[in-house]
Amino acid sequence: MFEVFTNRVILCATLEMETALSVGSHLSFEPIGTDLPVMKLPDGLPFIPGSSIKGAVRALSERILRSINRRLEFWACNPLDPYETCVPASQDKKKHPWQKSVDELWREAQQNEERFSQLLAKHSCTTCRIFGSPWLASRVSFKDAYLENSQDPPMITQIRDGVGIDRDLGAAKQKVKYDFEVVVPGTCFGIEILTENLEDWELGLLLSVLRFWEEGHLPLGGKVTRGPGWGRLKDLRLKRVDQSNLLKYLTGDQPAQESADRYLQAFRDYVKSASGQRGGINHAQDPL
Ligand SMILES: [Zn+2]
Repeated sequence: MFEVFTNRVILCATLEMETALSVGSHLSFEPIGTDLPVMKLPDGLPFIPGSSIKGAVRALSERILRSINRRLEFWACNPLDPYETCVPASQDKKKHPWQKSVDELWREAQQNEERFSQLLAKHSCTTCRIFGSPWLASRVSFKDAYLENSQDPPMITQIRDGVGIDRDLGAAKQKVKYDFEVVVPGTCFGIEILTENLEDWELGLLLSVLRFWEEGHLPLGGKVTRGPGWGRLKDLRLKRVDQSNLLKYLTGDQPAQESADRYLQAFRDYVKSASGQRGGINHAQDPL
């Protein structure tokens, strides 16, 4: 099957931190980035890895999809649990009757790659189709976010005292204290997200998550329960390149800025029409 350029959307915004953001010297390997969402450049300036941003945006997309509809067209698997993922690696990892493993799909496609791609897309959940899975490439890329207001670097981070929490008792552990570094409130980072060949409603889902962030309701990892990690997305700009303006774009013209409204409306319309239909994979008997 030939890959065809349908559209690319470039989303840019400024993230202004309202609370502190924890700084780590190494990356968290958890997809949700719950531990240390900020790293430092060799010159000491902090930046937010794109993987931390993606983890937070994907996790909220999953929660939104699960709250809208737990069956039919819209759903989100649990990609962290090998038994609850939409397309398990093997038959041994299946927990639900509706799941098909990747080797079963390959056999069903009779080893035809195009048919296999179609079956994978059909059996994958909405978030895996948009944000990727071990079998599907992500159609959304999150760039690392660098400082926008770096005139005064010494004031950008602070060292704070932490107190160890006993995970069983939820109480402060005696004599366990540690220091941690944070990016101070008011620090601004430049956010850039690229999407490839998303349907309008899929872009609408992504934009609905960004609306939560504009309202200050999307924490970015860190020690979230104790406050840090909250910021507000500002000045969101959306530019789209598709077949109508591709040639102009390739020869130097910048695409005009677009409103998010029509994509949010496409998402609402798609939810309404899909909720009224029966089709696709039915999880009604065995919801996640
Ligand atoms: Zn999935």
